[in-house]
Amino acid sequence: MTAQPSGIYIDGEWCPSSDATTFDVTNPADRSILATLSNASGPDAAAAIAAATSAQAGWAATPLGERAGLLRSVHTAVLDRSEEFADLIAAESGKTLVDARGEVAYGAQFLAWFADQATQLLHGAHYLDPSGKVRILTQYKAVGPTLLITPWNFPLAMITRKLAPALAAGCTTVIKPAAQTPLTAIRLVEILDELGAPAGVVNLLSSTRAAQISETVIASQALRKVSFTGSTRVGSALLRAGAERVVNASMELGGNAPAIVFEDADPGYLEELMIAKLRNGGQSCIAANRILVEDGIAEDVIEAVAARFASLTVGDGRAEGTDVGPVIDDAAVSKLTRLVDEAVAGGARVAAQASIPADTGSFFPPTVLVDVPADCALAREEIFGPVACISRFKGEQEAIRLANDTEAGLASYVFSADLGKALRVGGALDFGIVGINRGFISTAAAPFGGIKTSGLGREGGLTGLEEYVELQYLSLPVDTATS
Ligand code: NAP
Repeated sequence: MTAQPSGIYIDGEWCPSSDATTFDVTNPADRSILATLSNASGPDAAAAIAAATSAQAGWAATPLGERAGLLRSVHTAVLDRSEEFADLIAAESGKTLVDARGEVAYGAQFLAWFADQATQLLHGAHYLDPSGKVRILTQYKAVGPTLLITPWNFPLAMITRKLAPALAAGCTTVIKPAAQTPLTAIRLVEILDELGAPAGVVNLLSSTRAAQISETVIASQALRKVSFTGSTRVGSALLRAGAERVVNASMELGGNAPAIVFEDADPGYLEELMIAKLRNGGQSCIAANRILVEDGIAEDVIEAVAARFASLTVGDGRAEGTDVGPVIDDAAVSKLTRLVDEAVAGGARVAAQASIPADTGSFFPPTVLVDVPADCALAREEIFGPVACISRFKGEQEAIRLANDTEAGLASYVFSADLGKALRVGGALDFGIVGINRGFISTAAAPFGGIKTSGLGREGGLTGLEEYVELQYLSLPVDTATS
């Protein structure tokens, strides 16, 4: 480990970029420069995948108990440094300390979860086929060297959700964190280095040249898997790039979550709805993008949500007491301004707007818009910010129709005190995740993922490990000794 990490870690060494270029990491709350890092380019990417390739056979052959042991040690180390991680996450992403602490706890869960899962699930099977003439052995093998590309909105958890199962399964890795939030990734890799992760097993490429990195790594004959979290646009470009060599892919892409509030919702819905909308300042793939409220309760919901939004404290995420931090950058401010302006021009009404600091950060005022027309960009695009978009519906069937009227299919929410109705409606929703009377749905123990344009595969849960293994079948004569 070097005192001032470069941001590029290849084959167990921190190194400068091959073309000696650098980039700055800034705090979106005040635009201060947090660090200047080496900017990885194509040749660095080639060196990283070469290192991962050389280390693959050795890591896959490392006893499962040792691989799981490393993950457990990293889990303990991350939790021991919770406050340090939370401060780093808040500084580079702008999220509040409350959200950042929540992310550290959530991100660490994957390390322990997959250490346990690997030791419990990677067993394979032995049985005879029904004719009694074939002896069937199955065993799991690591997929192979894997490229992990992650977004800025969860700088730690989006990496551990991929890295932990990859390492548990015996895959070596090349990590490309978001250019806006590489510092958390660097700290995590420093810990892996300190705890003795073998050279080449984990490689890190901090860079602003994402396309160059992914093109180089995917072009390598050795790469067997891409695991990506980010926008649907980039995810589908990566699928196209990997298609020629039939590269295995897991995709966690964009959402457009409906939150359906029925007239009979328990009053506790408000707290859960606020979590679903405002966790991470609304910059979450599972954020409630469209709040659909049943007619009879609409005015009450609008009044309650508006009162909550109007009282939010917006400011530096690192200051205790901040409810909503800045959004990630000025481009996000421009996008939110466009979505809100277009919705208002289309007939939506502003029910509340919080104030923002006069400082120079990338702030957007938390805003509640009501009676938003269903064809507005605000209702059709992923908002990714502190804007609540509220519309009305009449009855179950209209709720289901409106909720499913999107190409996305990641998270959704149903609030009703009638559990039978909530389960019925939840089952009719075309989404990978349904929160029933809950706004906080993230846990390492649950299968997280979407359908339609929201992605392929699941992360976490009882099946997350399967994304990083191949099932091999060995066919033997029935009289073969198997011990
Ligand atoms: P993004 O622009 O797709 O970026 C995500 C990652 O992909 C970053 O590391 C980015 O690098 C990299 N990237 C950008 N262009 C690339 C290219 N041509 N080739 C390879 N990599 C490329 O997404 P974002 O705006 O950062 O993140 C927000 C999106 O992520 C939202 O749509 C959100 O819903 C989704 N998300 C989904 C989940 C989920 O679990 N389904 C979780 C979190 C976020 P740079 O940073 O250098 O641009």
